[in-house]
Amino acid sequence: MENQMHTEAFNPATGESLGKIPQNTVQDINEGVKRIRVAQAKWAKLSFSERGQSLRKMQRHLVKHSESYARTISRDNGKTLADAYLTDISSAVIAFDYYIKHTARVLRSRRVKGSHIFSLYTKNSLQRIPLGVIGIISPWNYPLAIPMHEILMALMAGNGILYKAASETQMVGQIIQKIVDSGDLPANLFIQVNVAGRIAGDAFLEAGIDKLFFTGSVPIGKKLMQKAAETLTPVSLELGGNDPMIVCAEANLKKAANGAIWAGFSNSGQSCAGVERIYVHRDVYRPFLKLLKQRVEKLRVGDPEKKETQIGTMTTARQQKAVRETLEEAIQQGASVSAISQIDENTGQALPATILTDVNHNMKIMREETFGPVMGVMSFKTIEEAIRLANDSDLGLTASVWSKNHRMARHIASQLEAGVVTINNHLFSHGIPNLPWGGFKQSGVGRTHGELGLLEMTEAQVIVSDLFPANKQLYWSPVPGFIYNRWVGFVMMVGGTWKFKLKGLLKLFLGIK
Ligand code: NAP
Repeated sequence: MENQMHTEAFNPATGESLGKIPQNTVQDINEGVKRIRVAQAKWAKLSFSERGQSLRKMQRHLVKHSESYARTISRDNGKTLADAYLTDISSAVIAFDYYIKHTARVLRSRRVKGSHIFSLYTKNSLQRIPLGVIGIISPWNYPLAIPMHEILMALMAGNGILYKAASETQMVGQIIQKIVDSGDLPANLFIQVNVAGRIAGDAFLEAGIDKLFFTGSVPIGKKLMQKAAETLTPVSLELGGNDPMIVCAEANLKKAANGAIWAGFSNSGQSCAGVERIYVHRDVYRPFLKLLKQRVEKLRVGDPEKKETQIGTMTTARQQKAVRETLEEAIQQGASVSAISQIDENTGQALPATILTDVNHNMKIMREETFGPVMGVMSFKTIEEAIRLANDSDLGLTASVWSKNHRMARHIASQLEAGVVTINNHLFSHGIPNLPWGGFKQSGVGRTHGELGLLEMTEAQVIVSDLFPANKQLYWSPVPGFIYNRWVGFVMMVGGTWKFKLKGLLKLFLGIK
């Protein structure tokens, strides 16, 4: 088609064009949902093991092409090759294994024993029904790992998928298409569309998808939930984070400093669950800061294709600008740059890794998600103060506690308002597919990954068979007076004090009023 619009993909480090991807229309989305629904009806009839065979082919394909796909991710997103391989490719490969092996156990129909007299003479089962057409909209920061987990869960649960990749990482969208195509799925079970985000949400929901899995920013998540309310379409929202790291007096400081660099700066700090704020016990504040400074000043930021580069570039010019502005605002308000990394100035959208001190909770840099290679460090006197500061945010995706005293760390962890709290590490549990992922407060709604994620891809259906042999149940209308009296006795026995239980017993068995 000559008039078809295209999205051009660029390497954020060099500005080089990576290719042009045709754009779709709202009509494609409407027709797509109808086609997916036809294919899904057939797919849902397959056993878990048959579905698993298709996924296994996809996994083999991904492993075979893993290094070349990691290179494409690195070029499209700006992260280093190692980052792309470890956090996107490996995470997806491992996820295949979990969902292929465990979905049947989690989603198979099961008998449910009755708990009381109503269920005497009944046979009950609980089954999980695929929802139908799942809409998935994903961001550019982990452009392969995030959507792949959801695609795998949706497929294993028996659903079809309408998928949209972020506009900025359309080349990774192409990789996902190749992976899915390698599974020999029924035609049209998975349809990918390239439409701008601003029209995607309304179009997906108006086309009649059965559930939306959205990963992205809080404001867009709110808009989508509002739109979904019109049709009561369920949504799963995986949104932003402003994650705290608490370094206790008993922490292994070297490990904590290395961990801060990993979780705060990998992927140029563009991780929803990246460390954004560090709270350090005042007894170890200076030595910790010294270790952090030494490491940050040695880091080299630049073009991920260059050998010496340890941290790549920001993915989008919009995000680079937003981080710069937040950083400048904090400095104007009194923050000090305590450490700054080396940077190859010729690299397009790179930003140096930066540590700020003299920060406080009136500054945007501490209150809101920065989503870039900047961390603010504050000291605390008591654990209570550290917990209060960590929880002083509208967001609650993940958090971490660093201490050699695991008992104490667990005690602190249980008081933090976050969907995942890690002790002596941070961020990595997104790659453990059996651990649920999701946040407290405005970090999202629902959980993805693992058993909870699989359940979210289905509707619960209960089937109850009445096996009572008589022609009429005791509680069916009209209820005779003597049954009513005995029924009152039964209720007194179940829930009353000992005095009531005794009275209830006499009512039930002797009919005494
Ligand atoms: P974003 O602007 O919300 O975009 C995310 C995705 O939503 C993209 O595919 C985008 O498409 C699409 N989109 C934009 N506007 C939309 C609309 N009105 N309706 C439907 N879809 C729309 O987020 P971002 O800035 O790209 O990503 C960063 C945010 O995602 C951060 O807040 C980060 O913390 C969060 N995140 C959360 C998790 C998690 O697991 N909780 C994981 C990763 C990222 P276009 O690209 O075409 O605009």
